[in-house]
Amino acid sequence: MRRESVPVSEEARQAQLERLRRKSVAVRISAHPVTKGASSRIPPIHFAPPNQRELARFPSFEYAVHPVQQIPNWGAMRTPTEWNRQYGNMANADYVKVPNYDSETLTIPMSSLLKNREQHIPEITAKLYYSTRHFGTYDLDAGEFTGSHPGVDLKLPKGTPIGSAGGGRVLTVEQDQNMGIYIIVEHRIESEGTYYSLYGHLGEALVQEGRAVKPGQIIGTVGMTGKTTAPHLHFQIDKGVTGQHKRFWPPKALTASEAEHYTVNPITFTAQHSATRYARL
Ligand SMILES: [Zn+2]
Repeated sequence: MRRESVPVSEEARQAQLERLRRKSVAVRISAHPVTKGASSRIPPIHFAPPNQRELARFPSFEYAVHPVQQIPNWGAMRTPTEWNRQYGNMANADYVKVPNYDSETLTIPMSSLLKNREQHIPEITAKLYYSTRHFGTYDLDAGEFTGSHPGVDLKLPKGTPIGSAGGGRVLTVEQDQNMGIYIIVEHRIESEGTYYSLYGHLGEALVQEGRAVKPGQIIGTVGMTGKTTAPHLHFQIDKGVTGQHKRFWPPKALTASEAEHYTVNPITFTAQHSATRYARL
């Protein structure tokens, strides 16, 4: 089911990257000047599968889940009083299922949707929910790889419980000025390697470092700690060396291809890993 709900195909993503490459500008996501041939200097991939003995001791990944099961129908809300409600003050009727992450829908200009607002509530809700797209800008109409934001921002009411994107072990529970209270969960997948899911701007962390977590297990709640103007979840998934995590926040000087190398689209990733149960070795 989840697989069907994410229509951003690999082909579409590759085509988009190809278009960007053809322009031969590496898409810079920092203020640093573009260096020609930067993509050829990507460091060798560190993405080695964990060894079997380590995997056996490590909590099983099992399968991936989206961090929440349903979301407020933002497009149907009209007043600040409605959309500023906290999690506990939303009613069941205010929720809809998690919308598709569909680049085409997400980049329809909001101004055109608002002209016929009642007919476009689902699209408006999707745009508001996926408020910043993978490596997008903070413009609500922007697509992927237009900016410097690793991961996706999910607009959710303050206090919403957040589930771990998969089974694994809590690597980090920290707070800093940018990301506020954040949690990093390490996931090790047989035949793939190690992933790190990061959940930022939390109101509270409900797990401790070193603890094993199951897919969907509540690890914290949505808040607005760190640099943020409204409650939302910063959701990011990076790839890396087992037991380490190279954090791509604040955004560093990365080309689009480097970004692809170190991070994955967290929404696509969770959808693609949801159907299979990943057996422990
Ligand atoms: Zn963010």
